[in-house]
Amino acid sequence: MTKMLRWRWTSISAGALLAALTNIASTEAADCPRKDALGTSRVLSVDAKATPRVGLKSFPQTLPLADHEVVLTFDDGPNPPTTSKVLAALAQECVRATFFLIGQHASEHPDMVKRIAREGHTIGHHTWSHPFMARIPSDKAIAEIERGIAADEMALHGVATTTPSTPFFRFPYFESTPAQLDLLQSRGIAVFGADLWASDWNEMTPEQELKLVTERLAAAGKGIILFHDPKARTAAIMPAFLRYLRDNGFRVVHVVPAGASQKNADAR
Ligand SMILES: [Zn+2]
Repeated sequence: MTKMLRWRWTSISAGALLAALTNIASTEAADCPRKDALGTSRVLSVDAKATPRVGLKSFPQTLPLADHEVVLTFDDGPNPPTTSKVLAALAQECVRATFFLIGQHASEHPDMVKRIAREGHTIGHHTWSHPFMARIPSDKAIAEIERGIAADEMALHGVATTTPSTPFFRFPYFESTPAQLDLLQSRGIAVFGADLWASDWNEMTPEQELKLVTERLAAAGKGIILFHDPKARTAAIMPAFLRYLRDNGFRVVHVVPAGASQKNADAR
């Protein structure tokens, strides 16, 4: 409980919270041109310093989500042909997600990085070239983290800083060392694992992926869900998956870094 209290909810007004919890249309859903859209239920501010790592697949703790609340995350992009389809599906339902970018891909497709941010999604970091981080020398691993952040920031803001504007990081293959986790914690960067995933790296049809991920979600009841936007099968199922969420009473929670939501709102 102590841990939960240390999370700051951006929707601090009791009315907004009640609206989110009772699935009455939230402000964002109300702003959505499509009236029967899924919408984003609430914004959850994640304080990296207070809670440095989340995701039950890797860690003992996760985000404080209520039953039927999900956080949508997409790794390994951007990849314009498929990322643009995922963005279109998210926009159609007025939901916001988090994209953990590979720095190399961000540097190749800066316009797509800017588009992801412009459409209101959160941008986290996923190294420069997606290595197995526990199997390379520590100096190379640190360089992978920093070069990845710098490439994402360069694509976003034109400045190659190693201080991320959104201090969210996910390890490739969820492989890390205690020293790397300590380093990120000391820098105030939250490490995201996942609570469930679509296994979309495995060969399967879109129909099989949709069945797999919805069955896993039905069993888990809530959680941080991992997809990969470069996967064509994931881009293909996203409209149907979001409809599934809506039709089954799931609510989408958008994660942002602590203290950043107002800043981002001002920038838009
Ligand atoms: Zn990855």
